[in-house]
Amino acid sequence: MPKHAWRYDHLTWPEMNAAIARAPQPVVLAPIGAVEDHGPHMSLSTDNDILEGILAECGRRSDGDLLLPVIPFGLDEHHMDFPGTIAIDIQTTLAYLSQTVISVARHGFTHILIVNGHGSNAAICELAARECVLKTGVICGATTVNAAVNPALVADVLDAERKGGWGSVGHACEYETAMMLHLHPERVEMDKAYRDVGQLKLKYFNWDYPEPSAIAWQDWWSRFSKEGICGDAAAATREFGERVFELTVERFLEMVREFRTIPIRPRVDHHQVS
Ligand SMILES: [Zn+2]
Repeated sequence: MPKHAWRYDHLTWPEMNAAIARAPQPVVLAPIGAVEDHGPHMSLSTDNDILEGILAECGRRSDGDLLLPVIPFGLDEHHMDFPGTIAIDIQTTLAYLSQTVISVARHGFTHILIVNGHGSNAAICELAARECVLKTGVICGATTVNAAVNPALVADVLDAERKGGWGSVGHACEYETAMMLHLHPERVEMDKAYRDVGQLKLKYFNWDYPEPSAIAWQDWWSRFSKEGICGDAAAATREFGERVFELTVERFLEMVREFRTIPIRPRVDHHQVS
């Protein structure tokens, strides 16, 4: 791999000093993904592939932000019935991730964004960001870039242009399969892709994008999914993937630019001094 100006770990330490001194300072992006089943039609690397694909393109187009290597494993015990999944427990994932971003903060970076690519890491990412803020005082936030988990950046396009209808976007689904058809078509076997929506739709629990659910609940995957699909993988097209990818990159960069403007305001101690 050539040396990339946007890869945090490709800099030398004197170059790192220069990056810390730059104004405005770069945002440091800290990605975390997963290695887990993605149906009979896609590789275990799918979450990491989508995450790396989006962030590498953002790195190429960004004006100086820095990207850490992807932490490749996350919270995945609930997928362990599918061969090959790597499961890291909640406490270890939280500790590893928070220590990663706290290390970045200790060098003097003030704006750090955890970028998640796998649904079940989301709550941990938020806690890791909190821990970094509370321990260092920097601005540390968390986002999930995989739109099957967090459609915030591209909800309008998913709403208007997905073909599979209710339940089509979930996991190894219309969205993820389309993104892989765009990024790594050699690792998608569309003849094995099909629709399987085994999740429940209740009045107060709904797993499907985009409807909100009153209850957060994640069951063991083998209890509701036959082969690791939840969604309509067969509805995916490369064109849809390319369109969502482009829009994600564009809006992600805009989001990072906005994130960089968040000021660090002074804390005020309101205790009475006797
Ligand atoms: Zn996935």
